[in-house]
Amino acid sequence: MPAGEFEPVIGLEVHAQLVTKSKVFCACPSVYGAEPNTQVCPVCLGLPGALPVINREAVSMAIMMGLATHCRIAPRSVFARKNYFYPDCPKNYQISMYDKPLCEEGHLEFEIEGERRRVGIERIHLEEDAGKLVHGGDGGSMVDFNRCGVPLIEIVSKPEIRSPEEASKYLIALRQLLRYLEVCDGNMEEGSLRCDVNISVRRAGEAALGTKTEIKNLNSFKAVEMGIRFEIERQTEVLRSGGRIEQVTNLWDSNAKRLLTMRSKEYAHDYRYFPEPDLLPLDVDAAWIERSRQILPEMPLEREQRFREVYGLPAYDAIVLCAERGLADYYEETVKTGCDPKLAANWVMREVLEEVKSRGPAAEAAGGAGAAGHAAIHAREAFAFRAPIAPGLLGELVRMVQSGVISGSAGRDVFKEMVKSGKPAGSVVENLGLAQVSGTIELEQWVAEVINENPNEVSRYKGGKTQLLGFFVGQVMKKSAGKANPKLTGDIVKKMLEK
Ligand SMILES: [Zn+2]
Repeated sequence: MPAGEFEPVIGLEVHAQLVTKSKVFCACPSVYGAEPNTQVCPVCLGLPGALPVINREAVSMAIMMGLATHCRIAPRSVFARKNYFYPDCPKNYQISMYDKPLCEEGHLEFEIEGERRRVGIERIHLEEDAGKLVHGGDGGSMVDFNRCGVPLIEIVSKPEIRSPEEASKYLIALRQLLRYLEVCDGNMEEGSLRCDVNISVRRAGEAALGTKTEIKNLNSFKAVEMGIRFEIERQTEVLRSGGRIEQVTNLWDSNAKRLLTMRSKEYAHDYRYFPEPDLLPLDVDAAWIERSRQILPEMPLEREQRFREVYGLPAYDAIVLCAERGLADYYEETVKTGCDPKLAANWVMREVLEEVKSRGPAAEAAGGAGAAGHAAIHAREAFAFRAPIAPGLLGELVRMVQSGVISGSAGRDVFKEMVKSGKPAGSVVENLGLAQVSGTIELEQWVAEVINENPNEVSRYKGGKTQLLGFFVGQVMKKSAGKANPKLTGDIVKKMLEK
């Protein structure tokens, strides 16, 4: 970027709902989609005298995310009260962490246009969610406290992101990691993953940061990119014309696809943070951290690398197959049945993923599981890859194509039938009569017929037009209703025409 031009400085604050069985400071279930105000108790309603108790599972999940992003895990962190008035938070404060967060100083790596990028993570802390206001309807505005006290981690990046595209790639990588760890389902539409953005603009080459503004309510990757792009343009415009940037909060209007600027912006001191008197400091010993480290899964980028090296896959295939942990597992189980890794990759990426997509978001790997899917989220089914057929069955089909028992196009029909009937490839091939004919006698008979029926092509072939070989093979394929083994057929055509 030439000196004197403006460059954006972007930082992301991401809130991720943890898929614990119960809330973070009480035993209420935290299942999404229940009847309003049925999952509440004196603690999460903030009734006088009720005391919070920390949920160990939530702490473990936060530690996992801290380790996966290479953070330092604090042996002692402190919960703090963040005071503000809001009608969906009956206590009028949120229990969060302030100057002593659980995880600090990490980073997240991802690829953008084939290049490895690293963005620093300033902190990850644990906090509780607020309730939800429901506007409209005959009852005016109503409030549902079911979400009060659902555990959140807030993941704060360093202001090291330099473009809207990079911001959305960072967020995609973060969501992928949360899902790999099975700590958050990453559903942005339903709000289990939420993103706020801080943006400032400065002249390239300047060290000092400009005044930053915030965008809230960005509920999709697309919204993150668009919102950031608009705000960069707005700030650049103001600075170019000699104006000053005010510290404001913008709301993303997802219907109108524009930013609504609000005049006010809170500062940390407005919240009057102080240590939460109802909770002890959170002590995490080395053994707990070590146990968490032991159960960390292989990370997405490492897995992509291994897929390229061990299975010889192109980068594109590795990225597609490793997008979800469940999908990568499915692929590896298919390969384990003894089929060619590249051929298996093609079948998983094309037939299997197309089938999954055609079933709509309700059946897709759970991120977009809808209300019904959400009820199952706490059974960790949110992360399962919902394959149309078992990997063992797919493996058998791929092997049949690989060894020439059936052609690739017949294989696709077999796959569809397997999805419908649930039967193994062998019996479907038999029922449909799709086995490739490789018997020489039968093939020779078809070839002889085709030669008799096409004297013109035969003489042209003999006159040197050998590219007509494909024509003869095609005719035999037609005659055999696709069952002739094309390679053997070609050999026989050559033999019979060149003798
Ligand atoms: Zn409760």
